[in-house]
Amino acid sequence: MKYVGAHVSAAGGVAQAPLNAAAIGAKAFALFTKNQRQWHAKPLTEEEVEAFRANLAAVGISPHHVLPHDSYLINLGHPGAAGLAKSRAAFVEEMQRCYTLGLPLLNFHPGAHLGAIDEEECLRRVAESVNEALARVPEVTAVIEITAGQGSWVGYSFDHLARLIEQIEPKERVGVCLDTCHMFAAGYDLRTENRCEKVFAEFDRVVGFRYLRGMHLNGSKAKLGSRVDRHDVLTEGELGLAVFRYVMNDPRFDGIPLILETIDEARWPEEIRLLYGLVQERGLGEEDNERSRQG
Ligand SMILES: [Zn+2]
Ligand SMILES: [Zn+2]
Repeated sequence: MKYVGAHVSAAGGVAQAPLNAAAIGAKAFALFTKNQRQWHAKPLTEEEVEAFRANLAAVGISPHHVLPHDSYLINLGHPGAAGLAKSRAAFVEEMQRCYTLGLPLLNFHPGAHLGAIDEEECLRRVAESVNEALARVPEVTAVIEITAGQGSWVGYSFDHLARLIEQIEPKERVGVCLDTCHMFAAGYDLRTENRCEKVFAEFDRVVGFRYLRGMHLNGSKAKLGSRVDRHDVLTEGELGLAVFRYVMNDPRFDGIPLILETIDEARWPEEIRLLYGLVQERGLGEEDNERSRQG
């Protein structure tokens, strides 16, 4: 079963997000649990938490299909002591908000070295930051998003994801989120079924599908390997639909949130229908084969 949705607005409070998701026909969604461009937020009140849980139950979406995204300000691999401490504190707060809301996942971008340390050291700092947060907040799984490798961001390769996972404990509380736009910009060609087969086989070998906890389904305005992070609608840009058809028909992507972060939210209902429309009716094809063999 595929759970497709979008990164919906939580303007007016987190409890609005499940309603916004249901309104566009989503079976999953992402949200910011606080303003993503500010460091601090008021703690969630008991009323807000209860309203969120009630709305989530009312629209019939499981907490496992909600993929909260952390603030864009956080850099868990920051080269400076003050920047790192500030980011770590904010990340713990984000994780705490997820825990309070009863949400088991927190999606984040690993970190950027800002030209001051090497990638290896940056990855080490990210892992240490995650370990610290996992020790301080129970239950929530840290879901590392693959990046486009723009600027000095680490996390743009399966190898980087694997090296992070290697250093994080406990393993049950670390996962990854693959973003099709970021993968493509980072150099993973997803433009045909054959290329998808190759790329996801490599992912399975280097990282492992058991760590895949979510996907971001986005088109890409930027070219293959450009390391430029520019999302596009699904039907436009450089990527094409092959990867979305591949994901929608492969059971390895079942049961996890598949989230649109495409640029025109007016088109989300249509994009969700488009994705479900890509599911091939396999039963029918098998019947046909059966009949032709008999005939
Ligand atoms: Zn992201
Ligand atoms: Zn993303």
